[in-house]
Amino acid sequence: MIVSVASGKGGTGKTTIAVNLALTLVETESVCLMDCDVEEPNAHLFLKPVLEGSAKVTVPVPIVNEEKCNGCGRCGEICAFNAILPLGKHVLTFPELCHGCGGCTLLCPVGAIREEPLEIGLVEWGHAGSISHIHGKLRIGSPLAPPVVKAVKCHKQNMPEGAISIIDAPPGTSCPVVASVSGSDFCLLVTEPTPFGLHDLTLAVDMVRELQVPFGVVINRAGLGNGGLVDYCNAENIHILAEIPFERRYAACYAKGGRLVEEFPEVKKVFQDLWHAICVTADRV
Ligand code: SF4
Ligand code: SF4
Repeated sequence: MIVSVASGKGGTGKTTIAVNLALTLVETESVCLMDCDVEEPNAHLFLKPVLEGSAKVTVPVPIVNEEKCNGCGRCGEICAFNAILPLGKHVLTFPELCHGCGGCTLLCPVGAIREEPLEIGLVEWGHAGSISHIHGKLRIGSPLAPPVVKAVKCHKQNMPEGAISIIDAPPGTSCPVVASVSGSDFCLLVTEPTPFGLHDLTLAVDMVRELQVPFGVVINRAGLGNGGLVDYCNAENIHILAEIPFERRYAACYAKGGRLVEEFPEVKKVFQDLWHAICVTADRV
């Protein structure tokens, strides 16, 4: 089963939920935590895994041989990202914009384009106790997060068969989030009971509905306020699967990189119940 953990905005405690769910499940299940928040992976700060390997993530970018180019302009016409710009027989390329789709190379009628790998990030893997851990790191300055997210998800093939996969998605609702959540069996949307949390939750709900991924909501810092969150979920027939109370001692634990389920038995119970609720809700849809 693949469970993604997403949120419409940053700072809601998404990683806290992903990490503590993994720590709860690993007592009885084989678990793999994939940190797909490749611009800012931080699950490792809580899990403290021993890393065992890494692999570069590259995309193939075009290199043009201007001696062969006939100036037809087709490469510029096909590129949806303005990453290649033919100016007569002089062709400019912008590797940082290239998505590595290979369209220009395929279409060039005279074979003037070859491809070279451009490194855009890194995937690292290892173990934190019995939890398999994989995370991606986008190279600073690279705008292409989705290929790194996909590389993290692909690496799962090397993880234990039948493991429950928990994906810590990036915040927001943009392409890297879609790449992270796509293909999940269930998505947890983490939010907080504030007007900002509600606003961004509505965007995240639209996204998972569009992706047709079954989902439920986890309210972090419950009791902080309401902001209409519960009313919205009721009106939209959205299941609230768990609530983590707003407690100073939980925040202090988080701030020092601690693990809630190991320090607070009542929180562990919340996560055990959350897993049960995920299984029940996923079965219903
Ligand atoms: S590989 Fe695709 S994205 Fe990159 S320049 Fe060619 S057409 Fe554009
Ligand atoms: S498609 Fe090939 S031949 Fe045509 S402009 Fe681009 S590089 Fe030159």
